Amino acid sequence: MLDEMKSQLVEVAKLAYKKGMVNTYEGNLSVRKGDFICITPSGVSKGLLNEDMISVIDLDGRIIEGSCKPSSEWRLHALSYINRTDINAVIHAHSPYTTAYAIANKAIETKAYPEMIVFFDKIPLADYGTQATDEIFDGVKKYIPDHDAILLANHGIITIGKDIYDTFYRLEAAESIAKALILSEFLGGGKDLPQAKIDELYEIRRNKIKNSK
Ligand SMILES: [Zn+2]
Repeated sequence: MLDEMKSQLVEVAKLAYKKGMVNTYEGNLSVRKGDFICITPSGVSKGLLNEDMISVIDLDGRIIEGSCKPSSEWRLHALSYINRTDINAVIHAHSPYTTAYAIANKAIETKAYPEMIVFFDKIPLADYGTQATDEIFDGVKKYIPDHDAILLANHGIITIGKDIYDTFYRLEAAESIAKALILSEFLGGGKDLPQAKIDELYEIRRNKIKNSK
């Protein structure tokens, strides 16, 4: 069942692997259809995945189909879907630059980089919760109604979206922005844009959100 969704999940998992955002032990991806979730397995390199390794589970974590053990972070995925009925994909990654912000316990925000303002405004930092438990979602719950990218303190990042591609583009954008912002620190830090230009960027952001609805 859900063959096309499994193929898309494998395709994007391999792409995320190639970009160094996930590996055997870190990161997991899922897509949702109705009450079913297709999710990457535990303990398999995302670079070696195939469709048969993708588990189908329900929102309570019961295995509906598949012989591999589903990701231990399935709760983070299921609770995201329960709290955001408009989304159909979740990626949790330990992408190095966004994870550096998470480990430093810093939200990502800037007045110096237009893409960050237009795409995200801010990527907030959710309080730490032990991995692979319900607790991991406690901090996320506060931000998930209004944010599609959230840092997990001392851990990594989660992005959500209408499909797996949209969700990956969001992760890719967040990682690229985090990288540029961290590198700019070596050159003395970003230079803030004038307030009038920042206001223009927020206007672009508002129109972008309006047009996507
Ligand atoms: Zn993780």
